[in-house]
Amino acid sequence: MTRQRADVFSPEKRSAIMRAVKSENTKPEIALRKALFSLGFRYRLNVKNLPGKPDLVFPKHRTVIFVHGCFWHGHNCKRGKRVPKTNRAYWTEKIARNKARDRKNAAALRRLGWRVVTIWECKIKDLDPAAITIGPPD
Ligand SMILES: [Zn+2]
Repeated sequence: MTRQRADVFSPEKRSAIMRAVKSENTKPEIALRKALFSLGFRYRLNVKNLPGKPDLVFPKHRTVIFVHGCFWHGHNCKRGKRVPKTNRAYWTEKIARNKARDRKNAAALRRLGWRVVTIWECKIKDLDPAAITIGPPD
Protein backbone atom coordinates (compact mmCIF):
# COMPACT_ATOMS: atom_id res chain seq x y z
CA MET A 1 0.00 0.00 0.00
CA THR A 2 1.26 3.44 -0.85
CA ARG A 3 0.97 5.99 1.86
CA GLN A 4 0.62 9.56 0.89
CA ARG A 5 0.84 12.56 3.13
CA ALA A 6 -1.82 15.08 2.22
CA ASP A 7 -0.53 18.56 1.55
CA VAL A 8 -2.17 20.71 4.18
CA PHE A 9 -2.07 23.71 1.87
CA SER A 10 -4.06 24.37 -1.28
CA PRO A 11 -1.99 24.99 -4.43
CA GLU A 12 -2.77 28.71 -4.15
CA LYS A 13 -1.65 28.89 -0.54
CA ARG A 14 1.42 26.79 -1.33
CA SER A 15 2.24 29.17 -4.18
CA ALA A 16 2.03 32.14 -1.85
CA ILE A 17 4.35 30.44 0.62
CA MET A 18 6.89 29.54 -2.06
CA ARG A 19 6.77 33.09 -3.41
CA ALA A 20 7.42 34.52 0.03
CA VAL A 21 10.38 32.19 0.45
CA LYS A 22 11.71 33.13 -2.96
CA SER A 23 11.45 36.89 -2.57
CA GLU A 24 13.65 36.91 0.50
CA ASN A 25 17.19 37.90 -0.23
CA THR A 26 19.08 34.73 0.49
CA LYS A 27 22.45 34.99 2.18
CA PRO A 28 24.42 33.48 -0.73
CA GLU A 29 22.79 35.96 -3.08
CA ILE A 30 23.80 38.87 -0.88
CA ALA A 31 27.34 37.48 -0.63
CA LEU A 32 27.48 37.29 -4.42
CA ARG A 33 26.29 40.90 -4.74
CA LYS A 34 28.91 42.09 -2.28
CA ALA A 35 31.64 40.19 -4.09
CA LEU A 36 30.63 41.66 -7.45
CA PHE A 37 30.50 45.13 -5.92
CA SER A 38 33.99 44.73 -4.49
CA LEU A 39 35.17 43.63 -7.94
CA GLY A 40 34.04 47.06 -9.11
CA PHE A 41 30.76 46.15 -10.75
CA ARG A 42 27.86 48.50 -10.12
CA TYR A 43 24.39 47.11 -10.49
CA ARG A 44 20.74 47.84 -10.01
CA LEU A 45 18.32 45.47 -8.34
CA ASN A 46 15.03 44.11 -9.71
CA VAL A 47 14.72 46.39 -12.69
CA LYS A 48 11.04 46.23 -13.52
CA ASN A 49 11.12 47.48 -17.10
CA LEU A 50 13.27 44.66 -18.48
CA PRO A 51 11.82 41.29 -19.55
CA GLY A 52 11.68 38.90 -16.61
CA LYS A 53 12.73 41.56 -14.07
CA PRO A 54 16.35 40.40 -13.74
CA ASP A 55 17.69 40.23 -10.17
CA LEU A 56 20.82 42.19 -11.00
CA VAL A 57 21.31 44.62 -13.86
CA PHE A 58 24.70 46.04 -14.87
CA PRO A 59 23.69 48.89 -17.20
CA LYS A 60 27.25 49.88 -18.06
CA HIS A 61 28.14 46.31 -19.00
CA ARG A 62 24.88 45.41 -20.76
CA THR A 63 24.61 42.36 -18.53
CA VAL A 64 21.77 40.99 -16.46
CA ILE A 65 21.90 38.24 -13.86
CA PHE A 66 19.05 36.02 -12.84
CA VAL A 67 19.42 34.12 -9.60
CA HIS A 68 17.06 31.21 -10.14
CA GLY A 69 15.56 29.00 -7.46
CA CYS A 70 16.01 25.39 -8.56
CA PHE A 71 12.44 24.35 -7.78
CA TRP A 72 10.66 27.29 -9.38
CA HIS A 73 12.72 27.38 -12.52
CA GLY A 74 13.04 23.64 -13.00
CA HIS A 75 16.80 23.24 -12.70
CA ASN A 76 18.21 19.90 -13.80
CA CYS A 77 19.39 19.06 -10.28
CA LYS A 78 18.14 17.07 -7.30
CA ARG A 79 16.17 19.96 -5.86
CA GLY A 80 14.84 21.05 -9.23
CA LYS A 81 13.57 17.61 -10.09
CA ARG A 82 11.61 17.23 -6.88
CA VAL A 83 7.86 17.56 -7.39
CA PRO A 84 5.53 17.95 -4.42
CA LYS A 85 3.70 14.71 -3.68
CA THR A 86 0.26 16.17 -4.07
CA ASN A 87 -1.06 18.18 -7.00
CA ARG A 88 1.75 16.78 -9.13
CA ALA A 89 0.12 17.70 -12.43
CA TYR A 90 -0.42 21.23 -11.21
CA TRP A 91 3.22 21.67 -10.24
CA THR A 92 4.64 19.95 -13.29
CA GLU A 93 2.64 22.24 -15.54
CA LYS A 94 3.44 25.34 -13.52
CA ILE A 95 7.19 24.72 -13.58
CA ALA A 96 7.04 23.99 -17.33
CA ARG A 97 5.34 27.35 -17.82
CA ASN A 98 8.00 29.08 -15.72
CA LYS A 99 10.77 27.49 -17.81
CA ALA A 100 9.09 28.56 -21.04
CA ARG A 101 8.74 32.10 -19.69
CA ASP A 102 12.42 32.14 -18.65
CA ARG A 103 13.47 31.12 -22.17
CA LYS A 104 11.25 33.78 -23.71
CA ASN A 105 12.57 36.50 -21.40
CA ALA A 106 16.20 35.55 -22.02
CA ALA A 107 15.63 35.63 -25.79
CA ALA A 108 13.95 39.05 -25.55
CA LEU A 109 16.82 40.41 -23.46
CA ARG A 110 19.40 39.10 -25.94
CA ARG A 111 17.52 40.77 -28.77
CA LEU A 112 17.71 44.02 -26.77
CA GLY A 113 21.48 43.62 -26.62
CA TRP A 114 21.96 42.22 -23.12
CA ARG A 115 24.17 39.40 -21.96
CA VAL A 116 22.03 37.07 -19.89
CA VAL A 117 23.65 35.19 -17.01
CA THR A 118 21.67 32.63 -15.04
CA ILE A 119 22.92 31.57 -11.65
CA TRP A 120 21.29 28.58 -9.99
CA GLU A 121 20.54 28.58 -6.31
CA CYS A 122 22.30 25.23 -5.81
CA LYS A 123 25.54 26.55 -7.37
CA ILE A 124 25.73 30.00 -5.88
CA LYS A 125 27.62 29.06 -2.71
CA ASP A 126 30.54 27.50 -4.58
CA LEU A 127 30.58 30.04 -7.34
CA ASP A 128 33.66 32.19 -7.93
CA PRO A 129 32.20 35.66 -8.59
CA ALA A 130 35.30 36.62 -10.55
CA ALA A 131 34.53 33.83 -13.02
CA ILE A 132 31.19 35.34 -14.03
CA THR A 133 31.35 37.02 -17.42
CA ILE A 134 30.03 40.54 -17.09
CA GLY A 135 30.23 42.58 -20.24
CA PRO A 136 28.42 43.28 -23.50
CA PRO A 137 27.43 40.21 -25.52
CA ASP A 138 30.02 38.99 -28.01
ZN1 LIG B 1 19.87 23.36 -8.91
